[in-house]
Amino acid sequence: MNEIEAFDAVRRSLKKRRFEHTERVVEEGEKLANRFNVNVEKVRLAAILHDYAKYRPVEEMRNTIINAGLEERLLDFGDEILHAFVGAYYLEHELKVADRDVLSAVKYHTTGRANMTGIEKVVFLADYIEPGRNFPGIEEVREIAKLDLDQACFMALKNTIGFLVKKGQPVYPETFEAYNYYSNDLKRRK
Ligand code: GDP
Ligand code: FE
Ligand code: FE
Repeated sequence: MNEIEAFDAVRRSLKKRRFEHTERVVEEGEKLANRFNVNVEKVRLAAILHDYAKYRPVEEMRNTIINAGLEERLLDFGDEILHAFVGAYYLEHELKVADRDVLSAVKYHTTGRANMTGIEKVVFLADYIEPGRNFPGIEEVREIAKLDLDQACFMALKNTIGFLVKKGQPVYPETFEAYNYYSNDLKRRK
């Protein structure tokens, strides 16, 4: 799968606004990849594809989780996280994307996970800070993202957990594990 094919696939799958978000994630991802010495080609491809499943019907995604034998606990943490995990599965099986680095960056772009690869971190963070985003506290994350990839990911995880807790929504365990991992990791570095 090259970039042209990937862009064609998501242009067909996404609404205009979501496609424009995707273009900004690609730009932001490229900048972060260059800044932190991460493979730019893989980051760009993962960023192009990261929201591939965003507009699949929730029922279809839930069925895919069950029928494809993906982790069933995914069903208990809100529909927002499904497109990431099911998206990686669809990319592998529908579009025949074979690159594990690209697939895992798509899979973890919403929740993050402990000990992320550089590609995973860059896609996770680019999706969070692309210029079209406007979350509380995002300017601080954008500033740190100029200097420290792990700390910026930690701040994004912390903000997301805080946001979900405030709304009383469930938090996927790997998001907590990621938060704990980077909290300890940053302390260890001091
Ligand atoms: P988008 O697809 O570009 O809009 O961005 P994301 O893939 O990051 O999805 C964002 C949504 O997922 C937001 O509404 C987040 O609050 C939500 N989200 C992120 N992590 C978790 C989690 O661990 N649990 C739940 N329930 N929602 C989450
Ligand atoms: Fe997403
Ligand atoms: Fe996104």
